[in-house]
Formats: sequence, C-alpha cells, structure tokens
Amino acid sequence: MSTKRARLVVIGNGMAGIRTVEELLQLAPDLYDISVFGTESYGNYNRVMLSLLLSGEKQADEIMLNPTAWYAEHGITLHAGDPVVEIDRARRCVRSSSGVEVAYDRLLIATGSQPIVLPVPGCDLPGVVCFRGIDDVERMVEAAGIYRSAAVIGGGLLGIEAANGLSRRGMQVTLIHRSHVLLNQQLNDDAARLLARNLQERGLVLRLDAETVALEGGERVEGVRLADGSRIDAGLVVMAVGVRPEIALAEASGIHCGRGIVVDDTLQTYDPHVYAVGECVQHRKVTFGLVAPVWEQARVCAAHLARFGHRRYCAAETATRLKVTGIDLYSAGDFIGGAGTEDLVMRDPRRGVYKRLVLRDSRLVGAVLYGDAKDGGWYFELICEGTDIAPLRDRLLFGQSYCQSSIANLAGVAT
Ligand SMILES: Cc1cc2nc3c(=O)[nH]c(=O)nc-3n(C[C@H](O)[C@H](O)[C@H](O)COP(=O)(O)OP(=O)(O)OC[C@H]3O[C@@H](n4cnc5c(N)ncnc54)[C@H](O)[C@@H]3O)c2cc1C
Repeated sequence: MSTKRARLVVIGNGMAGIRTVEELLQLAPDLYDISVFGTESYGNYNRVMLSLLLSGEKQADEIMLNPTAWYAEHGITLHAGDPVVEIDRARRCVRSSSGVEVAYDRLLIATGSQPIVLPVPGCDLPGVVCFRGIDDVERMVEAAGIYRSAAVIGGGLLGIEAANGLSRRGMQVTLIHRSHVLLNQQLNDDAARLLARNLQERGLVLRLDAETVALEGGERVEGVRLADGSRIDAGLVVMAVGVRPEIALAEASGIHCGRGIVVDDTLQTYDPHVYAVGECVQHRKVTFGLVAPVWEQARVCAAHLARFGHRRYCAAETATRLKVTGIDLYSAGDFIGGAGTEDLVMRDPRRGVYKRLVLRDSRLVGAVLYGDAKDGGWYFELICEGTDIAPLRDRLLFGQSYCQSSIANLAGVAT
C-alpha cells in the first residue's frame, strides 16, 4: 500500500530556502514531495562568494552549493528561471510565470531581498546594475572588458567589495558614499580612515560626503552627477545602497507583512500552512542581511516542517568580515557602544592596526578589528557566551594566544 506524501513548495532557490530543505532532508527525508521555484536560472549558489567571483578569485562552478543534479538526486522538482507570480492561499497552490501550478500542504517563502535602486534621473539607463546575483556579476565583468571607468554608489560592505572587484578587473573605479566615513554601519572613524587610505593606495578614488543626484548618458550610462555639481565619468554604475525584503508576493496573497514577512519563533507566518525564512522575514521587528542568522532560521524552520516542533528561533549577535584580499577587517556585536559601555582601544598606525573592544559590565559586547583580525572568532565567542572578562581585561586587546599563555603561566606559578 503506498502512502501519499505531503507536498512542500519552496519559493526562492537561494541560501535560506535550500538550506532549510537540506536540514529537512536530514531530519525527515521521506516526509515531503518537494518542489522549488527560483527566479534565477541556476542551481543554488553561495551568494556571499559573489564578491570573489567579481574579483576573479573564484569561478562560477566554485561557488555552487547544489548544482541542478543535486535536486534530481533528492527527488526535488526544480523550476529554475521560473518565478512564482501568485500564491492562492484558498486553494493552497502557487502559479509560476510560465503557468505551472503546484499545490502545497506546506509553503516555504524564501524570496530574499531586493536591492534598492536610488530613484534619481537616469537610474534605469543600460549600464546601471545592482550587486545581488550571478547575472549582475556577469554584466559587470562584461562591462569591465569594454569600458574604462566605473562608479560604485554606496560605501558599505557590498559597495567596497564591488569597487575592489572592478578595480581588479582593470577599471578606474570611483566609490561614492553619502557619509564622511566608509562602512559607517560597521566602523568608527579611526578604523574607517585606515580603510580609506588602504583603498586609495589600491587606486580607488573615494568621493565621501557625496550625494548622487543624477545618472547621465544617452543610450547607456556615461556618468554620475553629484550634488556639488561635479561629474564622474562612468561606463558602468553599480548601486550598492542597501536592500529591502522581497515581500511583494506574500503581501499580494494577504500574508501579514511589516517591513518583512512577519514570522513567529517557529518561522511560521500568520497562515499556519506557510513558513518563511531568510532576508524576506521580519522576526520581532528585526530584518536580516547576513547569512548566519538565516542559517539558524533554516535549522529551526526545518525542525517544524519535519514535525519535530521543539526548536525556537531567537536572534543572536552577528559578525561581518570584509572580503577584500589583503584588507583584514572584522566587526562583531555592538561595536558602536554608548551609555554604560567602555572602550579598550589599540592604535598602531605604522602597522595599520586598529582594535576596539566594547565592554559592558565586565562582558565583551562588541569588537572592531582592522589590520589584524585573526582573533575575531575568539572575541565573537566571548561576546556570544557572555564570558566575564574581568580576569583578562588588561590583556584582552593582545588576543587569544597571549591571554591563554599568560593564564597558563599564572597557573604554572600557582602549582
Ligand atoms: C555580493 C554579496 C556579498 C555578501 N557577502 C556576505 C558576507 O560576507 N557575509 C554574510 O553573512 N552575508 C553576505 N551577503 C548576504 C547573504 O548572501 C544573504 O544574507 C543570503 O543570501 C540571504 O539568503 P536568502 O535566501 O534570504 O536570499 P537569497 O540568497 O537572495 O535568495 C532568495 C532567492 O529567491 C529568489 N526569488 C525572489 N522572488 C522569487 C519568486 N517570486 N519566485 C521564485 N524565486 C524568487 C531570488 O531570485 C533569490 O534567488 C552577501 C550578499 C551579497 C549580494
């Protein structure tokens, strides 16, 4: 006698959706017939590595997490290059742009984020791209083979990585940023200045405190006009000014959304048949832009899809590392600090090293490391575990091995 399996439909073939499927296959490999819809025409790849694909340090096949063969091996039906255009919650089915309809018992929405396009005149000219997928990288690489100069708008992690990648491809790159310091979400002024100097030494032109007012060109973009009236020549313009959760489809189907699709601690939406994970969700008023929380969501969501309803998602501290070869930059936790916090700071401008540790009540709560970030993972552990650092306080800035060897020496003296 054959028992009918439940049907799981996944919208979004990105990092969160497929990580959830992988976790689910570990827990309950035979529970569902799984169908996955993806806008992009590839298998599932590591989006984090796009920066290295752009800089030429990785090839497309090296960043694939699951090639299309993986789906077939696991009996998963993949509709790549065929986005879902409608969720019919009353009939519990989805419809794709090519007209495919698939019914579900459980639906998982993992539609990620949409890059923000600055709504300035000329923003829709050919040659203006965002930095989100393989197709974007291909457009940039193609342009680098044809045009001499590029402008990148946005001096956050993505903007700097895009600028570095295009520069490594031989383009003359101008990085335009509204704030007076780069990475103002991650760094304080001291570390940002060291970073700016390093990027300039690599040949990047920085325009800080600069507001883009228009993109100019005819059949294609040719330059960027700034608020001070100056113009930057550019045969390619990359917008890296932020992302917003991709919620249009969920919203249109009546699923409760705020800035993202609102989920509870089990990653369930207000519709009990529908779950959501990744950058498209909003959990306790928070939205997400890094992969670590997304993977934790996938772990929790998979447990509930597998009907082992024991896990709860709670947002944890996050850490970021800039992926520009030769620049060591790491930030974690609450590195801005404020009332009730104190800073331990080490500056060594000659070696280009800056470290700042933020403490609250004898606990490490944040860290910014520039020029020497090898202890980033250790500081991050101390932050996450809430370790009492009072016994290490005077040595903490010197890093893990120094702290541990001096503890060992003290122990040796005591015995
Ligand atoms: C260049 C770059 C560098 C990054 N570097 C880092 C880093 O160093 N560290 C870090 O932690 N994070 C980094 N990130 C962020 C990280 O990649 C994301 O947090 C992660 O990919 C989020 O996963 P997701 O599945 O929510 O979204 P995505 O991976 O974007 O997947 C969403 C998928 O859903 C698809 N989709 C959307 N709508 C539909 C629809 N209607 N039908 C079907 N499919 C649809 C999209 O096309 C996409 O393929 C980086 C991101 C980029 C772009």
